[in-house]
Parts: sequence; structure tokens; C-alpha cells
Amino acid sequence: MSTLPSGPEDFRSVLASVQQDGQRKWVGARILWGRWRAWRMALAVPLTAFYCAIPFVSVGGKPALQFDLAARKFYVAGVAFWPQDLSYFVILVLLGIVGTLLTVALLGRVFCGWFCPHNVFLEMVFRPVEHLVLGGPGSPQKTPFWRAALMWLVFAVIAGGLANAGTAIFVGADAFRHHLILDWAGHPYAAVCWVVFFGIILFNFGWFREQTCTIVCPYGRFQTAMLDPHTLTVAYDARRGEPRGHLQHAPAPDEPKLGDCVDCGMCVRVCPTAIDIRNGNQLECIHCAACVDACDMVMGKLGRPKGLVRYAAEVQLAGQKRAIVRPRTILYTVVCCVLVALLVWRLQGRSEVLVAPLRQTAIPVREADPDGRDCVRAALPLSLVSRSDTALRARIVLGDAVQAKIILPQPVVELPPGQRVLATPIVYIPRTMFSGRHLDVDVRILAEDGRLLGSTEVGIRTP
Ligand code: SF4
Ligand code: SF4
Repeated sequence: MSTLPSGPEDFRSVLASVQQDGQRKWVGARILWGRWRAWRMALAVPLTAFYCAIPFVSVGGKPALQFDLAARKFYVAGVAFWPQDLSYFVILVLLGIVGTLLTVALLGRVFCGWFCPHNVFLEMVFRPVEHLVLGGPGSPQKTPFWRAALMWLVFAVIAGGLANAGTAIFVGADAFRHHLILDWAGHPYAAVCWVVFFGIILFNFGWFREQTCTIVCPYGRFQTAMLDPHTLTVAYDARRGEPRGHLQHAPAPDEPKLGDCVDCGMCVRVCPTAIDIRNGNQLECIHCAACVDACDMVMGKLGRPKGLVRYAAEVQLAGQKRAIVRPRTILYTVVCCVLVALLVWRLQGRSEVLVAPLRQTAIPVREADPDGRDCVRAALPLSLVSRSDTALRARIVLGDAVQAKIILPQPVVELPPGQRVLATPIVYIPRTMFSGRHLDVDVRILAEDGRLLGSTEVGIRTP
């Protein structure tokens, strides 16, 4: 009988996948089918299809998702975003942070175990393929050469397919077809992109694996630090399981009665990060619930109630009620709602051309306009930034100052996609329009078909 943790006693500071001499300990996690794995697989199928297909999907003729770094242009849901759209990016990042805080406060690391592309591909694609080819969890030292070669060949084919999706996100679906498939030598950018993705994917899923979660990913650490006693986590019920002991071990008369944990180690053998959940919540736990399935299977065979390892909050394990509505979840929800409302409001008012008045360097003067009226003549320097991904031809007009005249050095302003153009229209405003010394005029940018592309207000003072 043992009441001590089964792993190293310094499990909080030593990775379970590292040997005492610092060498890597290969984690050959077993695959066990159970209730939670079935749910994860049901989710993994559409997620895999989504991750692989989204770069090739178009919305209204534009990419659903593309990061065109060369053109400094990003497509999300068919809408082009430029560096000038930084405010949307900031709102989205804030929403991502607060949304993560809310999700973690309620459901722990549900993203890691259920949605993260790394874990979806590793646990639902690469590891099952490895088990199929090798006949079980592999180990680089013990696998026969031909089996290892076959496994790497299959891995390479899958990595190639995933590299297609990764490349298409950066070069676009059309360019991917034309540049990479039809003329890869003529477009080295796409070819280099593909090779880099292929190498990273093969290295990550073939060899690096769980180290991405336990060593590289800062998001996992951040999430673990945000857990609280009311957060739902994968947890071992120590009150029921301890003192643990093997079935054959009959406790001495002076020893306490054994708990339900038979110390079989199945929960450790299926764990993709090789930790022992009986030691409590740990940084490496991605909340994948593989250990829940394993322990449920053992309990089922022993005819004992399932759920010795289960989804539960710390307070529930202590026999208390879990609170979903608590100050932090209320605060996060309110902030999320405010950010969503702000984003929707900003998107609704998003114009195709960002118009900003620049500092007026020329002082307005009194001057007769071409019709001989007594006017104030002012130059209005404007910055026009196109958010469109097609070239625009724009006209500048005055919105409410109908009696005013506007004279442009050129009749239309050419706006290349995503570019900034400076324009300085000259306006003649009748003196009668000024009730005081100041007048705000509404400057509008119209497309050739009369569509409003953008607008701004510019203040003019009488001389
Ligand atoms: S301890 Fe359980 S839930 Fe956590 S990573 Fe290991 S198998 Fe998954
Ligand atoms: S699978 Fe269950 S019974 Fe076996 S060691 Fe883990 S917690 Fe104990």
C-alpha cells in the first residue's frame, strides 16, 4: 500500500518526460477508447476539416482566412483588413484575452484538450496512425527499422497535406494553385513557405510532440495560472481513492482500509504528457480526459462506481458546491459583452476609406469665388487611406455646405488598394454661412457610382 504520489516527489519542478540525467523520456501514450475520447473524436473530425479547408474557402469571392504578409493585408470572413485597421485587431486581442479568462474560469483548459490544432492533429491523427503502423505506442529505440520508415512515410504524407493548408493561409488559395502546383520554380516564396511548414509539422508531430505543450506554449502556462477552486478540471478524487493499493495487497489489521485506486497506473500510461493526475492539478495537464476514460474502464472492470478520476472542481472534491456565477465570471462576461458590442459598432461604421484632416498650413483668406460671391477660401489637407483591396476612383464633396464650392487640383483622386494618398481640396464658403468665426464642414468621399466611401468633419475659421 502506498499513499505517496507514484511519480517523482519533486513532480512540480521536474517534467515527467525528462529523465534524471536530463535526457528526454519518450512518451508513448496508449490509446484507450472511452466516452470522452469518443466525444473528442466527434469534435476532431469537423475541426480537422475546418483547419484544413478554411484557407481554400472564399466568402463573396474573397478568402475566408488569409494572412498576406507581403501585401500587409489580412482577410477574415472575406473582409480585407490593413495595418490601418489596428483598432479592430486591438479589440480582437482584448476579446481573446478576456474570453480566455472567462473560459478558463469556467471550464479550465478546455481549449488545450479539445480545440487546439496541435492536440487535435497529434491525438486524433498522428498518434492513431502511429499505433496502427507500429501496433501500439512506439519508441524510437525499440521500433524495427522498416516499421519506423513506414510510419515516417505516412507522417510525411499527412504533413504534406497540412503544409498545403498552412501555405495557402499565407499565399492565398489561387496563388497556391498557380504558384506551387503549376509553377513552383517561378515562385519560390510559395515553395519556401511549403517546405518550412512541412518541416515544422513533421518535426512537431513526429518527434517534438508533447514538448510543445509542456515547454514551448506560453498559453498553457497562462491558463493553468488562472485556475481557481471553482474551475472545472480533470481531477482525481483522493478522498475516495486513497489510500491506494494493489488488489492483491491485503492491508494489515492495523492499516486503514484501502481506497478505490488500485494503483494500476493506467491513468499515467494513457496520458499524453506522462503525468500522474493523482498528484493533483499540474502545469502539464491539458485536460484531455484520457485518464478519465482509463480509470473509468478500470473501475468498470472492478465493478466499482466510475468517476474516481473525473471532471470536477476542487471545491466539489472537498464536498462543496461549485459556483459558476462568481465575481470574476461576472466581470469577464461584462467585459466580453462590452468588447463584442464595441467591435460590432466599429465594424458597422467601417468605411472603405479612412479620412483624416491634416493640419492646415495655409491661413484661410477672404476671397471672391469664381461666381463673384464674398467667400472664405481655405485649403483642407486630407489623408485618405484605402481599406479596399481594389483600386478606387474617388470624388471629394462637401456634405452640408451646399452653397460652398470645392475645387480640386484633379477631378478624381486615385486610391490604390490599401494605400494612403494626400489630397488638398480648396473650398470657397460664402461668408453668410458663418454665424461666428468658426464653421465645421462635412467632407465626404464618394465613389464614382455615388457610394459613400468615407467622411470627416473639418473646422474652418474666418480670417
Ligand atoms: S492528466 Fe489526464 S487530462 Fe491531464 S493530460 Fe494527462 S491524461 Fe490528459
Ligand atoms: S487508473 Fe484509476 S485505479 Fe488505476 S492508478 Fe489511475 S486512478 Fe488509480
